[in-house]
Amino acid sequence: MWDVVIVGAGPAGLSAGIACAQHGLKAKIVDEFIRPGGRLLGQLHEEPNGTWWNGLEEGKQLQEQAIRLGVDLECGVSVHDATNTDQGWRMETSHGPIESPALLLATGAAETAIPIHGWTLPGVMSIGAAQVMTNVQRVKVGSRGVVVGINILSIAIMRELQLAGIPIDRMVLPARNLLTMDAGNPEKVMKSMMHAAHLAPSFLIRMGSKMMKSEALQKLALRFLPDQGIHLWDIPIQLNTAALSIIGENQVEGVKIAKVTAKGEPIAGTETIIPADFVCIAGGLQPLVELAAVAGCTLTYLPELGGHVPLHNERMQTTVKGLYVAGNITGIESAKIAMAQGTVAGLSIADDFGMLPDQDLLHTSINKVESVRQTAAIQFHPDIQQGRSIMSGLFEQHGIGV
Ligand SMILES: Cc1cc2nc3c(=O)[nH]c(=O)nc-3n(C[C@H](O)[C@H](O)[C@H](O)COP(=O)(O)OP(=O)(O)OC[C@H]3O[C@@H](n4cnc5c(N)ncnc54)[C@H](O)[C@@H]3O)c2cc1C
Repeated sequence: MWDVVIVGAGPAGLSAGIACAQHGLKAKIVDEFIRPGGRLLGQLHEEPNGTWWNGLEEGKQLQEQAIRLGVDLECGVSVHDATNTDQGWRMETSHGPIESPALLLATGAAETAIPIHGWTLPGVMSIGAAQVMTNVQRVKVGSRGVVVGINILSIAIMRELQLAGIPIDRMVLPARNLLTMDAGNPEKVMKSMMHAAHLAPSFLIRMGSKMMKSEALQKLALRFLPDQGIHLWDIPIQLNTAALSIIGENQVEGVKIAKVTAKGEPIAGTETIIPADFVCIAGGLQPLVELAAVAGCTLTYLPELGGHVPLHNERMQTTVKGLYVAGNITGIESAKIAMAQGTVAGLSIADDFGMLPDQDLLHTSINKVESVRQTAAIQFHPDIQQGRSIMSGLFEQHGIGV
């Protein structure tokens, strides 16, 4: 009944559904969340040109366009298996099986957990959960919070919480250990934060960050960081401080922190406890690839893209015929790139069905992914370009199976 089933109604899946429907394909999108939009639903940030990115509004427009074009959009449906049969794909879902000749996985990303002693106490949540509660469910997560983990996502969400009137006391690093690795290393975090400089509200910080491209200058800056940290929107970002544990009897009551060396080693005698009634843990994002794995797609590990990713080409085809991917499942990038990739995937599917009369459309949309990437306000991984070119080399060697 359907030409293509799309798993995930985030920016990638919705854009793909629109492109498919515009070229005469019958597309069905399923999503396990109760509303379409994916991670767009929680996003609100200022672009470098001073305009605001309102994810909720963007998601609404995509949803309306998809529905106008006749895309069948079903929420509250979880897909847990995909098998390649003689007729195409058979997906097992929480609402029974669905079949289609083509399958697009646009499942997005998941947060990486960072275990910290005391993290099971009520009041501890992932930074993404704080974003959803604040911007989607409109629940106040607490009155005095500490964010553990300094990265571009936690800074963006810290700002969203602040705009919603939720006080954040400070942002600190997680204690460095085998699991936290680079996230607990001030030098590495400082380097990655250079890519977030344009988000800074102060002209001086933005300029200072531009001058700090050199690693030597970054190391020097770490030595002379003020004890209170650098203030962003009046919130201290403490690159020289780590959270050792979360304290509380029946719920979060505080966080035990300590100063750390430039390599992230705690400095004995500097421990102190700061009061808090909620803690957000921010360990970064990783592509959500389980369905691609069960569908038989070859995966590879590319830290530049955020972790394990399905092998795919610039047309969003995978190593399995009739299986496509788009958005964060292919590597962690921002929503605008997910939308551009979704359009490519939709056009690519239409082409494989022989429904794309104008090849230029596909080529232009492939080029657009690159141009959106060049100007992206939020770039999660500094070496994303390198990751993308490694991927294209790997795919060329592998090719599409039968
Ligand atoms: C917690 C979190 C916060 C983020 N915040 C920001 C931000 O503030 N700014 C920013 O630019 N980027 C943010 N991102 C990155 C974000 O993923 C991209 O901006 C963009 O939303 C990716 O689009 P996508 O369509 O690939 O995936 P998503 O928007 O994540 O959409 C994927 C959809 O797939 C659905 N899905 C997944 N698995 C299944 C399944 N098995 N069955 C059915 N449905 C399924 C999910 O419910 C989801 O709706 C965030 C990501 C996360 C995880």
